[in-house]
Amino acid sequence: MKRALVAGGAGFIGSHLCDRLTEEGMSVICVDNLYTGRKENIEHLMGDPSFRFIEHDIRKPLSIDADCIYNLACPASPKHYQKDPIMTAQTNTLGVMNMLELAKANDARILQASTSEVYGDPVKHPQPEEYRGNVNPTGIRACYDEGKRMAETLFFDYHREYGTDIRVIRIFNTYGPRMNPEDGRVVSNFIVQAIKGDDITIYGDGSQTRSFCYVDDLIDGMRMMMDTDGTTGPVNLGNPEEIRILDLAKKITEMTGSTSEIIYFPLPCDDPSKRRPSIYKAWEQLGWKPAVDLDEGLKKTIGYFNTVLKRSEL
Ligand code: NAD
Ligand code: UDP
Repeated sequence: MKRALVAGGAGFIGSHLCDRLTEEGMSVICVDNLYTGRKENIEHLMGDPSFRFIEHDIRKPLSIDADCIYNLACPASPKHYQKDPIMTAQTNTLGVMNMLELAKANDARILQASTSEVYGDPVKHPQPEEYRGNVNPTGIRACYDEGKRMAETLFFDYHREYGTDIRVIRIFNTYGPRMNPEDGRVVSNFIVQAIKGDDITIYGDGSQTRSFCYVDDLIDGMRMMMDTDGTTGPVNLGNPEEIRILDLAKKITEMTGSTSEIIYFPLPCDDPSKRRPSIYKAWEQLGWKPAVDLDEGLKKTIGYFNTVLKRSEL
C-alpha cells in the first residue's frame, strides 16, 4: 500500500486531502501541530487502520517512512498567520527544509502548497506563473508571502542540488466545508455573519477582487499534480471566476436570506486589490480545470455552516 504523508492534514484543505487519499486506498500519515487545524476535521478517519495521526510541529525534524509527501502545514488565514509571524516564517523555512530532508531520506516525491500570495498585490492581471509578483518584504503579510516564496526557492534548490522530485502548486483562494468558523477568511466570515444575522464586515470599500475555488476542485488538481510525471510546476490552481468582495457579500446575504447589514472597516495594509489565476498551465500540463461554480460551491458551504452553527446552539 502506498504511504502518503500529509503535513497540515488536520486543517481545512489537508483534511479533505486525507479523505481523498484514504478513499483511493492509500495509507495516510497526517502530521499536524493543531495550530489552526482541528481534530474534529479528521475524527471520522481515526478508526481507519490505514490512517494515522501524529501531533508534531514541522519546525522540528521528523523521521518516518513515506512514499509521497504533501506539505500543507502553515496557517493560511491572515488573522492566524499574522498572530505569530515569526512562527509562520519558521514554518515556511525550517519546517519546509525538514519536509524536504524527509523527502530526500525517503526518495519520496514531495508537493508544496504554495500560494497566489507569491504574486503579492499584482500589477499583472490575471496572474500567470511567469509573473514574479509585487510583494512588500517588510509588511505584515511578508511572514507568509515571503515565507512561501522562500519555500518555493528551497524546493527548487533541493531539486537542482539533490534531484528531489518536487511539485509546486500555487493555490488561489479556496473555500468549502470544514473552514473554521473563527478562521477570519472572507467566505467563512460572511457566511457565519449572514446566518447569525450579524453585520457583514467589509474591509475597505469592497472593490477589491478575489477568485474563489471550491475545495473538491482543488483536491482534484493536487492529486493530478502529484501523479503527473515530468512536471515540477509551479502551477496555479484556482477558479478564474473573479468577484468583487462587495458583490460576494451581497450574494451570500441573498443566498442565506439574511437580514444582515453591510458595515465597513479600514482595508488592512498590503491587502491585494485584485487576484485572478491564469490556469492555462494547469489545463495544458494536467488537463485540470475547476468544475464547481461559485453559486454551487457557496450553496454547499452555506449548508455546512448551517449544520455546524445549529449544532453549536444545542
Ligand atoms: P489551515 O490553517 O486550515 O491548515 C493549515 C494546517 O497546518 C493546520 O492544520 C495547522 O494546524 C497546520 N500547521 C500550521 N503550522 C504548522 C506547523 N509548524 N507544524 C505542523 N502543522 C502546522 O489552512 P488551509 O486553508 O487548509 O491551507 C492549507 C495550505 O494551503 C497552507 O499551506 C496554505 O498556505 C495553503 N493555501 C491555502 C489557500 C486557501 O485559500 N485555503 C490559498 C493558498 C495557499
Ligand atoms: N475581507 C473582508 N471582510 C472579512 C474578511 C476579509 O472584506 O471579514 C476581505 C480582505 O480584506 C481581502 C478579501 O476579503 O480583501 C479576502 O480576504 P481573505 O482573508 O479571505 O484572503 P486573502 O486576503 O488572503 O486573499
